[in-house]
Amino acid sequence: MAVEPFDVVDLIRVKRDGGQLSSAQISWLIDAYTRGYVADEQMSAMTMAIFLNGMNRNETRDLTLSMVASGERLDFSGLSKQTTDKHSTGGVGDKITLPLAPLVATFGVAVPQLSGRGLGHTGGTLDKLESIRGWRASLTPEEFYSQLESVGAVICAAGATLAPADGKLYALRDITGTVEAIPLIAASIMSKKIAEGTAALVLDVKFGSGAFLQDPERGRELAETMVRLGTDAGVSTVALLTNMNVPLGFAIGNANEVRESVEVLAGGGPADVVELTVALAREMLALAGHPDADPAAALADGRAMDTWRAMIAAQGGDPDAALPKPRESHVVVAEESGVLVRQDALPFGISAWRLGAGRARQQDPVQHAAGIDLHAKPGDPVTAGQPLFTLHSDDSARFERALEALDGAYEIGPAGADIHTGGPLIADRITA
Ligand code: URA
Repeated sequence: MAVEPFDVVDLIRVKRDGGQLSSAQISWLIDAYTRGYVADEQMSAMTMAIFLNGMNRNETRDLTLSMVASGERLDFSGLSKQTTDKHSTGGVGDKITLPLAPLVATFGVAVPQLSGRGLGHTGGTLDKLESIRGWRASLTPEEFYSQLESVGAVICAAGATLAPADGKLYALRDITGTVEAIPLIAASIMSKKIAEGTAALVLDVKFGSGAFLQDPERGRELAETMVRLGTDAGVSTVALLTNMNVPLGFAIGNANEVRESVEVLAGGGPADVVELTVALAREMLALAGHPDADPAAALADGRAMDTWRAMIAAQGGDPDAALPKPRESHVVVAEESGVLVRQDALPFGISAWRLGAGRARQQDPVQHAAGIDLHAKPGDPVTAGQPLFTLHSDDSARFERALEALDGAYEIGPAGADIHTGGPLIADRITA
């Protein structure tokens, strides 16, 4: 049996006492954990030590690259198109990938969106798309490359071969209270994106009540860390720091988010969803060598919709099929007249999850028609008795706990009262 070069307990002590690990130590740690030599309880102690004491720039880079090295790397050098991708750190009502990928592909670039399923209060892109009849999340490598060449946009499940160390580590962090550590989030996201092999990457880093990191300054630190990691690994990387205090758009769920995305692709849709989609598209296209592209025009004239239809059909979906309808709905009305001054993203995300739009365990199914349709946004005038939002589920027994989550989540104030949104939707742009 090969002799292991380090003792994991020594490495845990180093991080516990605020010291720094070397490149060789980090590389060994990730490899030994991936092959099962380092036990989950030892890695739990290590992630908690990192959570409490942080990692410096070199350690974070070494962690990311060791996670990339734990699996396969995709190679797009054979494609005739430039690749450009986006990643969101996740939010409530965040369906932006759905209109964005076909919109950007309309300009002749390839958008390889390897996505995940939802866990907790943030929805999963694949769960949303699976509400379209026939649509398939799993593609063979041949189907994936061929669709990138023909349609340009692919949204599909990431295989287990990309950064497998992250899959194992993320599951462990999820059950040990160590998700919200900047070096761990940055290494987790960037290892998958670097392994995916995209040439350019735009990050949508969210802060606010519905985001992983509530504090905008922590969001900025995460964005700066990820932009640096991407740039150092040869990926052109830019981040937008965006506000997730209020749900994005009017739809929170699965099928209803597809419906809202199609509205955006038809040239309409909610102003905030359109603003963020167009801003991210501009960044992705600029990095891919199209700084003068006009994504708003491609939404208005139907070109992006054509690409959406081709993208859905290429994965077996019927873009014209009716979306699933909920069996039960419950309308909540305004108790007084005035202005909606607050609508907190997190409780709405939790409520939609309790309605069945999300899952508590990776293996659970989701209800495609479950979720919430908002009828007013902060700043809108409301009159007593007017519907404020509608809950949907296949199971009316879920309404009680969903409503409990929304206790105190919104507020109606007098005309002229301050509106609490936590500032503009796009707070900043972060470059290397
Ligand atoms: N998303 C990821 O992929 N990893 C994290 O650690 C957090 C969000």
